[in-house]
Amino acid sequence: MESQTKQQGDQLRAKVPALRAETPGCAEVVHFNHAGASLVPQQVLDTVVGHLQREALIGAYEAADEAEQRLARVRGSVARLLNGKPEEVAVVENATRGWDMAFYSLPLQAGDRVLTSMSEYCSNAIAFLQLAQRGVSIEVVPNDDSGQLSVEALAGMIDKKVRLVAVSHMPTNGGLVQPAAAIGKVCREAKVLYLLDACQTAGQVPLDVHAIGCDMLSATSRKYLRGPRGAGFLWVRGDLANKLEPPFLDVHAARWVEADRYEIVPGSARFENWESNIAATLGMGAAVDLALDLGLEAIWEVVQERAEALRTALLTIPGVQVHDLGAVRGGIVSFTLLGWSAEEVQHALHQDSINVTASTPYSARWDMEARGLRGVVRSSVHYLTTDEEIERMRSRVAQLAGR
Ligand SMILES: *Cc1c(COP(=O)(O)O)cnc(C)c1O
Repeated sequence: MESQTKQQGDQLRAKVPALRAETPGCAEVVHFNHAGASLVPQQVLDTVVGHLQREALIGAYEAADEAEQRLARVRGSVARLLNGKPEEVAVVENATRGWDMAFYSLPLQAGDRVLTSMSEYCSNAIAFLQLAQRGVSIEVVPNDDSGQLSVEALAGMIDKKVRLVAVSHMPTNGGLVQPAAAIGKVCREAKVLYLLDACQTAGQVPLDVHAIGCDMLSATSRKYLRGPRGAGFLWVRGDLANKLEPPFLDVHAARWVEADRYEIVPGSARFENWESNIAATLGMGAAVDLALDLGLEAIWEVVQERAEALRTALLTIPGVQVHDLGAVRGGIVSFTLLGWSAEEVQHALHQDSINVTASTPYSARWDMEARGLRGVVRSSVHYLTTDEEIERMRSRVAQLAGR
């Protein structure tokens, strides 16, 4: 099994030069910001631009009609990525909108309990805090010794008042990958709903909603999937979607069937908008198809190896600390450099066409405060990342450390 994954990884590694040649950005920048927005491949760019051109030439409604079948296939592609069904997939603007549509559809009331993780994403935490003002109890499950959510503590916190477990599969500010399936097992046994924010893992980690045992899953196009901005998706288990009333409805999510009556459409389409960015949706479909072609097992193997190579290289530099938590670590490498703020490192690297971001407490405050971190440099790899790029990063950070 292990050697089979290694073999799949090797097959992908052999394709990297071609994949880089088909990615215009690879010739321009040293990109360590795949967790912010990856570089789109040429076929995604062609799909998006091609559709915009059809809109300009024949009219946008007419171009959408022309693309109808390809558009419908996007849901099928996302469903294959997740091992779900096409009708369970809602195509939305971004991960947050998908997550919010699921979260705010749940009939949570004062006294209900929601359990979440230390490393929760800012927008999700803000939604939690909003419902906390209405009397919903938001409780953060402590980490275990490895820094991942303690599954044991989670199991111990479950009671009849717990309505939802909502966890980010991988946080925005570090390499930690949460034990999503073990969390799912606890939720299944307790019959508690489970919402997984897979924004950083979609396109990076193999996802199977049945193996994970989640009820709802959200993700975005532009990160590890390498799609365009402005598109994302929400998956909701079929039987559940039909029981949920979205916080807002439009003429796509519902039908105005009589003067004083509407009917919400079946399935996850109820979480979608009528108006949407068709070019971005098609681009997201092309990006998902590429990830499926390359194989998620292979991608995950290569991303983990690349991230470890970057961590090892950075750790040779005096004054560098790597902050990634967890028993399983993925493509986000978070570090600090003694004497430098994360923003200063980001700006210095940018002068040299090296793209990283700085994660501040605004992005994941519970986690950052608990660890006393004011900021970390987030340098995220993908299968595209080469040894030369890792060396360029290492030598530039080493120069900064020497100042
Ligand atoms: C980026 C990110 C999001 C938000 O995704 P958008 O597409 O910007 O809405 C949500 N969760 C995590 C963990 C993220 O890293």
